Order: sequence, then C-alpha cells, then structure tokens
Amino acid sequence: MARYDNILDTIGNTPLVRLNRMAPDHVNLYVKVESFNPMASVKDRMARAIIEDAERSGALQPGQTVIEATSGNTGIGLAMVCAQKGYPLVVTMAENFSVERRKMLRFLGARVVLTPASEKGTGMLKKAEELAAEHGWFLCRQFDNPANARVHRETTVPEILDDMNGEPLYAFVTGFGTGGTLNGVASGLREHSPETRIIAAEPDNAQVLGSGVPQPRDSAGNPQGSHPNFKPHLMQGWSPDFISSLTEAAVEGDLIDAMQPVPGDAAMATSRRLAREEGIFVGTSSGATLHAALQVAAEAPAGANIVCMLPDTAERYLSTPLFADIGEDMDEEELSISQSTAGFRFDRAGAPAPAAAQSRQLHEDAARFVDETVASTPVVMFALEWCEFCWSARNLFAAMGIDYESVDLDSVAYQAGERGNKIRAVLAERTGSPTIPQVFVNGELVGGCTELFDFQRSGGLADALDRMGIEFTPFDRDPYSLLPKWLHSRAS
Ligand code: PMP
Repeated sequence: MARYDNILDTIGNTPLVRLNRMAPDHVNLYVKVESFNPMASVKDRMARAIIEDAERSGALQPGQTVIEATSGNTGIGLAMVCAQKGYPLVVTMAENFSVERRKMLRFLGARVVLTPASEKGTGMLKKAEELAAEHGWFLCRQFDNPANARVHRETTVPEILDDMNGEPLYAFVTGFGTGGTLNGVASGLREHSPETRIIAAEPDNAQVLGSGVPQPRDSAGNPQGSHPNFKPHLMQGWSPDFISSLTEAAVEGDLIDAMQPVPGDAAMATSRRLAREEGIFVGTSSGATLHAALQVAAEAPAGANIVCMLPDTAERYLSTPLFADIGEDMDEEELSISQSTAGFRFDRAGAPAPAAAQSRQLHEDAARFVDETVASTPVVMFALEWCEFCWSARNLFAAMGIDYESVDLDSVAYQAGERGNKIRAVLAERTGSPTIPQVFVNGELVGGCTELFDFQRSGGLADALDRMGIEFTPFDRDPYSLLPKWLHSRAS
C-alpha cells in the first residue's frame, strides 16, 4: 500500500486491462483506463504538468488566477490541481457541454463562464484569451502547450512499455482533442517502440485530419475560423473545430500511421458493450476509441498486442445521449420482478398505522409537546433531517421566505429516550397518518408534503399566512417542481 503526500501524487499509473469478451481471439487488446486518475480522466496528467511547468518557468506566480477554455475534463483536472495548490481558477466553456461538468467545476471551487454554442470551440478559446489579457491571468493554452504532450511522453509511454514487459506492441489507438495524448504518446513510442503503429480516430462526420485539408491560419499561425470539414459531433473531448498545433505537429512529424473514422452511434454502442460485457465504465470518446481499436484488431496479425486509450468515465455523461435510452422508471421486466413477491410494491397498500393499543401507552410528555408546539408555533413541520419529502417542503418554505420551525425527529436532539419516535407515534395518532413530514399552519393540520403543495396551489397557505400577519414572497411556479426528479411521477 502506497501512502501519498497529496492527491496530485496519485495521478497516472493507470491500469492496462485485457478485454476478454469483446476482442477477437487472435489478438490481445488492452485498454488503458484513465478513469483511475483522481478526477477520473486522462486530463489530470496534463493539468498538473501545465501548472507545474508554469510554476517552474515563473509564468505562474503564487496566488495568480489560472484560466482555460475547456470542454470539461481539463477544467475538472485543473480545478483539482488549483484547489490543491491554492490558485483561483476560471474556466470558459461552451454552453452545450454536459451540465454535470459545470457543476463539478463549481463544486471544486472554480468559476465557469459559459460561451454561446454557436461560437464553438474557438469562441470559448477567444473568451479565455480576452479574459487573460484583461486581468493578467495565467492562460494554460492546452492546445499549444508543449507540457501537455511532454507529460504523455514522460508518463503514459513508460507506463505502457513497463506493463508490456518487453513484449512487442503492435498498435496504439487514440482519439485527439488537444492532441496532447496523440502527440506525446506517438513521439515517445516512435523513440522507444518504433515498430508500434499509431492509429488516430476521429468522428466519421467531421474528418478534419482524414481529409488532408490544412487548417486555415492567420499570419501569426493561430487557427483562423473553423476547419472546413468540421461538423458538430457526439464525441465530447475529441476533434475541436480546428486543428491544434499539437495535433498538427503529430501529422507533420509523420507520427500517425492510419486514421480511423468512427460513427457516433458506434461510439455509444461500444461504450455500453464495454460496460455490460467487460464491466468497464467509460464515456463516449472511450467507446469511440475502442470501436476504432476493434477495427484495428480485426485486421491485426495473430498474437498482436494492441493498446487503446480510454480517456474518462461514463459517469460524466448521465445527461447526454450516451444515457438517453437508460430508463429512470421500472420497465416491464423490472415490474414483473417486483410483483413476483408480496411485499414492498407500489400496487399494494403501505405499512399499517401503529396499533391503537400501542399509541395509548405513549408518554404523556410527547403528547403534550406536540399539542403545545402546534398551538404556539404559526408554521411547524415535524420532519426527518434528510428525507426527500421534507427537503421538498423546506424548498417551498425557503422559496416563499416563510419563517417556520422544523422539529427534526431523527436529529441528535430528539434521540435520547426515543423521544423522536414517541413524538412520531403521537403524530400518527393525531393525524391518522404514519408518514413524515406533518405540517401544521396556525394550529391546523395541513398534512404531508403533497398536501402542503396542494394547500399552496389552492391559495389556502397564502390565506392562512395573511390571517396570521406573516410576511411571505408569493410563489408562482408549480410546487411539485420542487420534488426531487425521481419522485415526480409517483407524487403528482
Ligand atoms: N476524450 C475526452 C473525454 C477528453 O476530455 C479529451 C481531452 N479533451 C480527449 C478525449 C482527448 O485527449 P487529448 O486532449 O489529449 O487529445
């Protein structure tokens, strides 16, 4: 067991895993699973390398803000590195990238500035350049920064060759976004394993490299507008709308032996197959790279060893087309499994209310507590700290700015002597319902979360608050929208 000084030291050394079901029998197809990095993508390598390179050169000073244009994984890696090292981070990102990426960045303390999808990759890059120039921030320039390729030459390549343990490597298959992986791994393999074929994959509908058409550039050598063959495609992180200098250097250095176009639906299907047949859970560009690697494998000689990069995890794509066919509700088969035994079903009544005999023995002080609290508190909710219905009711109170008392029956304060449970039993007796929350307004029982929502919808809540002279903000939306998404279909 290794012990690490800090999280950055866990970057790299990702496993090379053999595919046992999906690969043809005559080859050994290994995948390099980059989701083993701390922020679950290949870009963690580059994030650390660029920041530490800039620290060494003095381009980045202590406390200086770091900025970068990124579709997500680079930003998430940078956010980790900047959090660990104490640099503020601003990320520019086109609005069409998956929402979970933005949220992760903000969770890690970064700020995210969105740019219009219509302006594509160049738009977010231009915005980052503008902001860096205006505020004197350190711009990472992942598309051009040599540290991005160098880290792959110095870490990814030795990792692969060490794991091959002297056996020949027939082919290495990768996609390219910045081209850091492609450029760095290909140049390293050319030096240390010159017989290895380098295969670069790209979307079949946006064959920018495959076309052989050069990238239009301005007099300073920067990309001028989109490449004529670029089309929007499914593989987030792959093929931006221009050819980066790192990618171009790989082409010019003759580092690419063959191009492999990949259709979007094949990328998604391959990602799902990899999950179901091999238990390896990866994103869209990984499915795309593996699809390309399977084409290479089909043609490869017997006994060939092939390595395929898998850049990130499927968890980053829950809101994207990769998961569009994955249901939230039970399907026919799951329903029939549910109905194959008697208990815990949606089509049968729930748990019975506590027996009357039991409630008769309740401690008097619990009963007195309930009655006094209800009588003396304008708005009170008997709740559980973390239940979803209580959380939804709290959302409504918060949205309306209503000052209420929450009696959290499972909180530490109510645990001694089973007080919370005794109060709960009193509530069940008083309300005729065993469920929590139970909301009382002006001494009257409203009921649970959905009754509270119905009371708000009908105007009853506003009337009751007005009668008591309690200030509140009107709420115009459907209160049911405050329920967690998985509860919508059941509660409404
Ligand atoms: N796949 C995904 C999911 C990515 O985020 C990236 C990085 N943009 C890549 C592939 C391509 O890697 P590279 O930038 O090293 O070419």
